[in-house]
Amino acid sequence: MPGYWLLACLHGLDSMNPQEFQRFYPLFIDWLHATLVAHAAMARTVASCAFPRLPHYFAAGTLESAKVVYVDQLPIPPLTSWGLTRFAEFEGRNFDGIAYLGTFFLRQPQSGNEAIHFHELIHIVQWRILGPEDFLRLYADSWERFGYRQSPLEEMAYDAELAFTTSNVSFDAEKMVAEKLRLWKRTRVANG
Ligand SMILES: [Zn+2]
Repeated sequence: MPGYWLLACLHGLDSMNPQEFQRFYPLFIDWLHATLVAHAAMARTVASCAFPRLPHYFAAGTLESAKVVYVDQLPIPPLTSWGLTRFAEFEGRNFDGIAYLGTFFLRQPQSGNEAIHFHELIHIVQWRILGPEDFLRLYADSWERFGYRQSPLEEMAYDAELAFTTSNVSFDAEKMVAEKLRLWKRTRVANG
């Protein structure tokens, strides 16, 4: 719902305190690179999955560069061991998929589910446009404010996924993400 999104805009990004974020961010980036390297041999391009509808929503270059890894266990950063104990729910949550930079991980049974690939591709585009630091700051901040499902980045992905699954009318998903993020940034600047 747009209301949550606007609320997030108005509140800005300052819920997780900057010192805490600065301490956590390098740990996350190190963990992230190690995780991507460890799974590189299992990664394949989304284009190689040959889903029929995705090319109507995402640019060919995005589908060629985005990678997917099918796993039994999703890699989740050890946030509580870094002292971020209030994110224990994130660590313990049973996700079906998760996106990091240009790669997303899905549980094996989801390998034929085009809609979940669509959802994770929305996150890949968010990562690309925001950059890792802003993506993580916004994700962590809104997780704390709204919980998983109502965080603006998730809401955007779920809304788009709903449009994907309930209608065959295609749209430019990358443009949609870019426009929503531009609106968010403008509101953020306007609210200091
Ligand atoms: Zn998501």
